[in-house]
Amino acid sequence: MTFESRKRAIILCAAAAIPFSALGATPVLSADKPDIVDRATWGAKKPILKRMKRQKAREIIIHHTGVRQQPKISLERKLRGLQGYSQGEKPWGDSPYHYYIGVSGRIGEARNVAFAGDTNTKYSVQDRIQVVVEGHFDRDRPTKPQLASLDSLIIWLAHKHKIPAKAISGHNDHAQTDCPGKRLKPHLLVLRKLVAETSMRDKPAAQNPASAEN
Ligand SMILES: [Zn+2]
Repeated sequence: MTFESRKRAIILCAAAAIPFSALGATPVLSADKPDIVDRATWGAKKPILKRMKRQKAREIIIHHTGVRQQPKISLERKLRGLQGYSQGEKPWGDSPYHYYIGVSGRIGEARNVAFAGDTNTKYSVQDRIQVVVEGHFDRDRPTKPQLASLDSLIIWLAHKHKIPAKAISGHNDHAQTDCPGKRLKPHLLVLRKLVAETSMRDKPAAQNPASAEN
């Protein structure tokens, strides 16, 4: 290889690296708030507060909706439907989940995190943020936009509420259920890793006793 051809090869490699990272090959660990469709925007009814308990968010639980993905129905309509079911057919004050990630990847604010969620299964919902991803993940696959939204939502929530990586779990870690499904459950390891990496990065070096020694 001549010097010229070697130089050209290096330039080609450098050029090839640009679209690779632009496609998201390098994870961007941002704890910024992602776009969230708030309750007023999707037309939420008032919560029924006498049915609800206040909480302090200390953990995050991941769910699937347990029904197949419905790409033709808007996120807003799904959120209104879930709230109507929760306050009507169920004795709950509001949607059982705090955040809902639709098949398109759009995130909806379902219940105020200052109040504990609700469940059909036997486990404590107290002090836990409930995040549901649309689909039945023994059959559906989470879409790429859903996983990207889940990652950014969980990093933001963990950062905002000072929730450690180990406090992120799936519904079936606590109760007898298939939720959040075989095809979503493995992604919890990715979520824990992202949260751990983000909190490490945010920690000032002076607060780390190991580095202070050196
Ligand atoms: Zn669940």
